Amino acid sequence: MNHPVAVITGAGKGIGRATAIELARRGYALALAARTETDLLATLNVAGAEDRGIAVPADVSDPAAADQLIDQALDRLGRIDAVVHCAGYAPVRPIAQMTSAEWRRTIDTNLSAAFYLARAAWPAFERQRGGAIVNVSSLASRDPFGGFAAYGAAKAGVNLFGLSAAREGQPIGVRVYTVAPGAVETDMFRSIMTPEQYPKDKTLDPADVARVIAGCVQGDLRYASGEVIYLHKTL
Ligand code: NAP
Repeated sequence: MNHPVAVITGAGKGIGRATAIELARRGYALALAARTETDLLATLNVAGAEDRGIAVPADVSDPAAADQLIDQALDRLGRIDAVVHCAGYAPVRPIAQMTSAEWRRTIDTNLSAAFYLARAAWPAFERQRGGAIVNVSSLASRDPFGGFAAYGAAKAGVNLFGLSAAREGQPIGVRVYTVAPGAVETDMFRSIMTPEQYPKDKTLDPADVARVIAGCVQGDLRYASGEVIYLHKTL
């Protein structure tokens, strides 16, 4: 295949699905991951990428699953040009009520997975002398509300992981970005806030975020490697 290839986690819904649609529109072949296969197949369908996309059911908080995702993308699509890590977990829990398991799950899904995926893709990027990584962080990484101790800490870790990886990647042509939105109109956000608490006209559309992610991968933002790019309608 002649298409550039993007691996997208969290691609079953929300920002990940919107990113799949945007990158398919720009000619990318897709390797999509989430735990729910039917959602991934639906994303391939709405992106019009069934003939140049694969659905890989995976829990990317598991390092072996992240390795398998990258291996499958390379085996079945031939190369990897971009890794977009959208999968996230955002429990709202006071510190005194958070279990150790929930703390670890939050750190592993948001932060550790970014490391597992970058580590797995790095040798291919080195061989190709290039590649792009976009990790989705959150405005909560600099301004968390109460109950977001684990999530805010995980996303702040994502921000610094991105800067560090960008410095390592520069000599071999690997660019790394962190896109950090405020409220986005998705299932995740609506499981936390009702429209009465946070009206729809104040949320970003997932497609707004997806265009910025695509701009990091191949657009004007390609010269912003290492940066955290914050997006919001209201501060
Ligand atoms: P969403 O609509 O709930 O979609 C999340 C996707 O991630 C789903 O496809 C889900 O599928 C997948 N996922 C969750 N855990 C996973 C895991 N362990 N392994 C693989 N896939 C997993 O959420 P969203 O709002 O688009 O969020 C996307 C990213 O944006 C997250 O990193 C989130 O923290 C960040 N963000 C969101 C907002 C917001 O307001 N929505 C604001 C700032 C940042 P399965 O459950 O089937 O695995």
